[in-house]
Amino acid sequence: MNTRVSALADPKQGFIPVTQPYLPPLAEFTPYLEEIWRRKWVTNNGVFHQQLEEALCDYLGVEHLSLFSNGTLALITALQALKITGEVITTPFSFVATTHALHWNGIKPVFVDIDQTSMNLDVTKIEAAITPQTTAILPVHVYANPCDVGAIDTLADTYGLRVIYDAAHAFGVRVRERSVLEFGDMSVLSFHGTKVFNTFEGGAIVCRDAKTKRRIDNLKNFGFIDETTVVAPGINGKMNEVQAAFGLLQLQHMEHVIAQRARIDACYREAFANVPGIVLHEVAPDCSRNFAYFPVRITREFPVDRDSLYEKLRKHQVAARRYFFPLISEFPTYRGLPSSAPSNLPVATEASRQVLCLPIYPGLEAHDQQRIIDVVLSCVDEDRAH
Ligand SMILES: *Cc1c(COP(=O)(O)O)cnc(C)c1O
Repeated sequence: MNTRVSALADPKQGFIPVTQPYLPPLAEFTPYLEEIWRRKWVTNNGVFHQQLEEALCDYLGVEHLSLFSNGTLALITALQALKITGEVITTPFSFVATTHALHWNGIKPVFVDIDQTSMNLDVTKIEAAITPQTTAILPVHVYANPCDVGAIDTLADTYGLRVIYDAAHAFGVRVRERSVLEFGDMSVLSFHGTKVFNTFEGGAIVCRDAKTKRRIDNLKNFGFIDETTVVAPGINGKMNEVQAAFGLLQLQHMEHVIAQRARIDACYREAFANVPGIVLHEVAPDCSRNFAYFPVRITREFPVDRDSLYEKLRKHQVAARRYFFPLISEFPTYRGLPSSAPSNLPVATEASRQVLCLPIYPGLEAHDQQRIIDVVLSCVDEDRAH
């Protein structure tokens, strides 16, 4: 019997989730809570909120950042702040909130196919999708791999379009020594528990100037600019003090978090480097990485298809996830759109049938990662044995 197969995950062994939030030692959080209890200021631009905005600007290398209670409200508000209407060009290969944010603004999403390698919007196909109604582009830095920001900038300049990046995955990522969040008109972050940096729930908009930040700050607080004046139909998108305090603490641990993720990433890459049918996701060489996800593509050369591998991992208590499957354009709300036709999105359609995200998070133990690798490689061994 093959040694690898015999070493396979015992179904009775612990469950391995696809991700897990990093939680610093609880004792380190207590002093923050005591501060909040003492001040009795729980939300509305509190001290920790102000400190976190400043600390994040520093850490990320950006100038203007406004915190939100979650990334989806930040996306919705970014579109409001720029008064985006009509049609917006976006990717179907993302988390559904990207397109929902357009829908909540009464904007028509126009899906454009993705690039085979980067799995981001295919910039060569954007131009053909522009109509007189197009007002903006909403690309996503999928798996924290930056879009072709230069090409998108040029297109936006040529056609007078706004650009809002969904940077929910791209915390801390740099392109040629510059923050990826500095491109376009705005970038939106998510600090959800599943993301690299988390505040349980949370998010932010990064924008270009102080005036725009003030407008965003007003919009996230119902449109108030002072006690009695409401200048816009704003929303409640405010981050509270507990979230902000947790963010300040989490930020102190980022070096450890990224280092742990990098270790896991390297281990997967070594194990799967020469396995036919497993295509690893390559990141542009001039970009830094945050190791947010570990996507692989299971192609025809692999002994089993993606879904069979997914089921096999499940059976062995490993919760790999098919991000992103289905495509956003396949959900009932959006599948009737002309741009949702699979013939318009062949690359994205194939990617969503092949992609599998393997568990990666700071607390993933080496022996648990080995279990995951063993299950994947056992497919190859079993195939050879036949
Ligand atoms: C997580 C995520 C969002 C939504 O962020 P929330 O903070 O969960 O609301 C939006 N877009 C992408 C690509 C995401 O991964």
